[in-house]
Amino acid sequence: MTAPTPTPASTHRVVVVGSGFGGLFATKALDEPEVAVTMVARTSHHLFQPLLYQVATGILSEGVIAPTTRDVLASQDNVQVMLGDVTGIDLEARTVTAGTVGQETVYPYDSLIVAAGANQSWFGNDSFAEFAPGMKTIDDALELRGRIYGAFEMAEVAAAAGRHDAVRRLLTFVVVGAGPTGVEMAGQLAELSRRTLTKEFRHIEPGSARIILLDAADAVLSSFGPGLATRTKRDLEKVGVEVRLNTMVVDVDAGGLEVRTPDGSTERIEATTKVWAAGVQANPLTRTLAEQSGAELDRAGRIAVNPDLTLPGHPEVYAVGDMVALEDVPGVAQGAIQMGRHAADQVLRRLRGEETGQPFEYFDKGSMATISRFRAVMKRGRIELTGVPAWVAWLAVHLFYIIGFKSQVTTLMHWAVSFVGRDRSERTVTEQQVLARLAMEYLGEDFLRTSLRKEPVERRTLTRHPSDETSVDEEPGGQSS
Ligand SMILES: Cc1cc2nc3c(=O)[nH]c(=O)nc-3n(C[C@H](O)[C@H](O)[C@H](O)COP(=O)(O)OP(=O)(O)OC[C@H]3O[C@@H](n4cnc5c(N)ncnc54)[C@H](O)[C@@H]3O)c2cc1C
Repeated sequence: MTAPTPTPASTHRVVVVGSGFGGLFATKALDEPEVAVTMVARTSHHLFQPLLYQVATGILSEGVIAPTTRDVLASQDNVQVMLGDVTGIDLEARTVTAGTVGQETVYPYDSLIVAAGANQSWFGNDSFAEFAPGMKTIDDALELRGRIYGAFEMAEVAAAAGRHDAVRRLLTFVVVGAGPTGVEMAGQLAELSRRTLTKEFRHIEPGSARIILLDAADAVLSSFGPGLATRTKRDLEKVGVEVRLNTMVVDVDAGGLEVRTPDGSTERIEATTKVWAAGVQANPLTRTLAEQSGAELDRAGRIAVNPDLTLPGHPEVYAVGDMVALEDVPGVAQGAIQMGRHAADQVLRRLRGEETGQPFEYFDKGSMATISRFRAVMKRGRIELTGVPAWVAWLAVHLFYIIGFKSQVTTLMHWAVSFVGRDRSERTVTEQQVLARLAMEYLGEDFLRTSLRKEPVERRTLTRHPSDETSVDEEPGGQSS
C-alpha cells in the first residue's frame, strides 16, 4: 500500500471521486490556489455519455467523446489526476482507498466530493447482461458496435448459404427501454440499415432489418409529456422502428428474448442483437457512504443527501450526480454538472470562513432526444419543439457541451459525413470488442488477481468451456490465489 506525495500542510486537500460530469465540473470549479485537488477515477477519460450510441453505431470514434481527463485538466495546476478504482472510503479516518492494477493507494482528504455515477441495471436479472449488453461505458459501446455490424456480416454469410431463418434472426434488433437512450439507439439502427448500408451487401437487404423498441411502460419518452411522446412514437414508426409498449421482457438468451405482451401472453422474438437501455442502479459506493453516515438509500441505491449535498454528520463530504437521490433533480448531465459546481463552491466557502449550507437548487435547462436525421424532440418549460428545429437545437447543444475544441471540430466533420452524406466513419469492429467482456467474466476474479501479480500466463490452463462457472485452474505446483 502506498500514500501519494504529501501536499504542503497549509493546503486544503480535496479528493474528487469520478471523472464524469459531476467530478469534472467540481474539479474545474476548484481552480483556486488554496486547494490541492486529487481526482481519482477508474477510467483515464471523461466520458460524454449522451453520444455513446453514436460510437455504438459507427458515427463517432471513442476518442471524440472520451478525451483524456489529464489532457482536459492539464492547465489546472492545483489538480493531480490518478487512475484508480475506489474500493473504500473511511469517513472517520478521512481517507479514500483506490486500487490501480494491483497497487493500492490511500488518499487522505480534508474535503471529499464523490461523483461515482450509476451503473446499468437489469432489474435483478443480471444474467440478461450476457446477451443484452447495456450502454454505459466505451467498452459497452464498442461491444455493441461489434455486435451490430457483426450481425449484418453474419446475415450475409447465412443468406449466401440459404439459411433464411438465421438471416431473419440476425437482422432483428431489439432495443429494450424507450427512454432517450433507447429512442436514439433505435432511430440510429433504422437509419444505419435503411440509409448507410443499402448498397453494400449482395445477399441481404439491410433495409429489411426489423428494429424493435420495447418498453413495459405505455409511452416512449414518458418524461417528456404525452404530446412529445406521441410525436416521437410516430416519428420512430416513420423511420421504420416497430414500437411495442406495455411489453415486458421476461427472459433473454443468445437467440432472442421472451416478452409478456399487453394481453398477458408470452411471446418469443428471435433476435441475435439486443441492446439494454432500461434502468440504472447507483454506484455501490453509496452503500459504504450510507453505512457510515446513516444516510438512506432509495430502491435504485441512490443516496439521500442533505439539501446542501453533504452527508449527514459530515459537512466535509459531498455526494453529487447520478448516485444522489434529490427530489426534482433528474439523472442527467446538467444535474451532475450543477451539483458538482455547488459542492465545489461550498468547499471554497467553508475554507474562506464564509457562510455555508446553502441548499442546492436545480436549474432545469430542458430535455431533448434525437430520433433520426432531421427529427428530434425538445422540451423546456412549456416550450416544445419537434422536427428539424429540435434536431438543429440538439446538434448545437451537444456540440457545445463536448469537451475540447479538437473534439468539437472532429464531431462536426463526422456528423457531416453521416447526416449530409450517408456514410459512417467509424465502422471498424474487432472480435475482441465483442468477446472481451464475456471472456473476462468467464475467466473470473481469480484470473484477474493472478494476472495482476504478473504470474506467467503459460502456467495457467483454460481447462473448461467458457460457459462453465470456473474457468481458470492452476497447474499442479502453480500458485493459487
Ligand atoms: C447512454 C446514455 C445516454 C445519456 N444521454 C443523456 C442526454 O442526452 N442528456 C443528459 O443530460 N444526460 C444523459 N445521460 C445521463 C448523463 O450522462 C448522466 O446523468 C451523467 O453522466 C451523470 O454524471 P455523474 O458524474 O454523476 O456520473 P458519470 O458521468 O457516470 O461519472 C461517474 C464517474 O465515476 C467513475 N467511477 C465509478 N465508480 C468508480 C470507482 N469505484 N472508483 C473510481 N471511479 C469510479 C467513473 O469512471 C466515471 O468517471 C445519458 C447517460 C447514458 C448512459
